[in-house]
Amino acid sequence: MDCIFCKIANKEIEKKFIYEDDEVMVFPDIHPAKPVHLLVIPKKHVPEFSQVEDPVLFQKLFVIAQNMVKREGLEDKGYRITINGGGAQVVNHLHVHVMGPLTKTAAL
Ligand code: AMP
Ligand code: ZN
Repeated sequence: MDCIFCKIANKEIEKKFIYEDDEVMVFPDIHPAKPVHLLVIPKKHVPEFSQVEDPVLFQKLFVIAQNMVKREGLEDKGYRITINGGGAQVVNHLHVHVMGPLTKTAAL
């Protein structure tokens, strides 16, 4: 399957990981929108949010996203957790954006 995030998950593309376990990995976004911009992905190919069948996957992704917020010291600096889907996403492999620091602004 020609999926860039599967290739990253399978180590076909070299990438410096920030976190990795059997099911989830975290790496920096290649075009960071904020000083901290991480992507939390399932290693398994899940096309998008609406197609997640195992609710435990949500738990894993969000616990790791929370850990990343803490790891990056964003708890009191402003952060945003984003999932694009339904055609708004560019990469069709589920990923959670963790971005910060940011101030009180309307989410765009
Ligand atoms: P989305 O619009 O939610 O699908 O976001 C996809 C994100 O993946 C964008 O922020 C891209 O900058 C990022 N991205 C695409 N290719 C790579 C890559 N090879 N390594 C890291 N981030 C990537
Ligand atoms: Zn994939």
